Amino acid sequence: MEEKRARKRLVLVPVPAQGHISPMMQLAKTLHLKGFSITVAQTKFNYFNPPDDSTDFQFVTIPESLPESDFKNLGPIRFLHKLNKECQVSFKDCLGQLLIQQSHEIACVIYDEFMYFAEAAAKEFNLPNVIFSTTSATAFACRSVFEKLYAENALVPFNEPKEEQNELVPEFHPLRYKDFPVSRWASLESIMEIYRNTVDKRTASSVIINTTSCLENSSLLWLQQRLEIPVYPVGPLHMVASAPTSLLEENKSCIEWLNKRSQNSVIFVSLGSLALMEINEVMETASGLDSSNQHFLWVIRPGSIRESEWIESLPEEFSQMVSDRGYIVKWAPQKEVLAHPAVGGFWSHCGWNSTLESIGEGVPMICKPFSGDQKVNASYLDRVWKIGVQVEGDLDRGAVERAVKRLMVGEEGEKMRKRAVSLKEKLRASVRSGGSSHNSLEEFVNFFKTVKQ
Ligand code: UDP
Repeated sequence: MEEKRARKRLVLVPVPAQGHISPMMQLAKTLHLKGFSITVAQTKFNYFNPPDDSTDFQFVTIPESLPESDFKNLGPIRFLHKLNKECQVSFKDCLGQLLIQQSHEIACVIYDEFMYFAEAAAKEFNLPNVIFSTTSATAFACRSVFEKLYAENALVPFNEPKEEQNELVPEFHPLRYKDFPVSRWASLESIMEIYRNTVDKRTASSVIINTTSCLENSSLLWLQQRLEIPVYPVGPLHMVASAPTSLLEENKSCIEWLNKRSQNSVIFVSLGSLALMEINEVMETASGLDSSNQHFLWVIRPGSIRESEWIESLPEEFSQMVSDRGYIVKWAPQKEVLAHPAVGGFWSHCGWNSTLESIGEGVPMICKPFSGDQKVNASYLDRVWKIGVQVEGDLDRGAVERAVKRLMVGEEGEKMRKRAVSLKEKLRASVRSGGSSHNSLEEFVNFFKTVKQ
């Protein structure tokens, strides 16, 4: 009881999207285990309902009056602009109330890098403001390089011929201009406005990143030099503290289906929580998977196919192509699936969580990025860690079949699998006592436990 009263409190502000809520809640659990009390401040969008065993956590709602439809209709970039403007003042009020209510100290505000409105509120109350990056260190650094090149008018325009887009970015090999984290959903100018608010983070107290030095040492060093504030790589957090964070219901029947398959025989296809496909892309993928002769478990999220609720309105051939060797679910227990011995490869959009979860189970990947930082991750999977096959250009059945066969059948795929397993061991070592992420977390925790504010 005495110990509980002495806990310092941390206020955490997640972006309301699955790929950001999950690592933020894993961080919350980790820091709670280290002796802090936790307040999670979230908006009504994608409201994360705390599980029953999280009574130790306080959940508060940041008031705002944006229409419910904005999240879906505006697209992520324009939505984030609006949300940041909207919450600028209301979060100050919210934090002020928390400071009045809390009998014990609030040690700092930790906010997702894209919820940058939280910085002003923290500064107003003289609280340290800590950024939490749920993307890779390389993507973080890349946004900074990209923004600088844009400001200097030195960016290769995205409508330039292909060869120019293939050129390596000076200072930032092995990334090419075409790997820069742009979005399908927004104009370059509005992306840059978000980046301007997130890249130059010397005004923060420190940065926590969900990564580990064995994956991204050079990008982490680059960031440390550039930002001149402490950078703490503490990930992969899903290997440090598991927390139930799914916003959608997981269909566990796929595990029974996997139980009937032999080792490394199944390709898991899942494109995260936001990516959208055209009907023809779905049909080409189905055809390529069918002709690859491999078993496949495919997550098709409701609403993820443009102009279609789910798969009901797809052409008839779709069910013929998937019925022999395929199994389709609306949402899977992804981490459990990747840990299943039957899964030998992961067809992914390369969101950072999916990337870490796949490497964390030693599963090599087929990389078909859609947007933003996914292209950076895909490039690293293919050309730095060499555990992925990147599919570039239009999605056609031939490309799908060739990529699946390269990964699932033959020597090349086997070599990638071995490299992925070796990386998995390195990730595990980094979060164990004495490992780099473990040490980094201890450093962060000790700073806030001992500092007198
Ligand atoms: N996920 C899941 N079940 C699914 C598909 C995805 O639990 O069927 C989870 C996945 O494990 C990951 C998150 O959703 O933690 C997706 O995050 P990621 O960063 O990979 O992509 P985003 O959704 O942000 O594009």
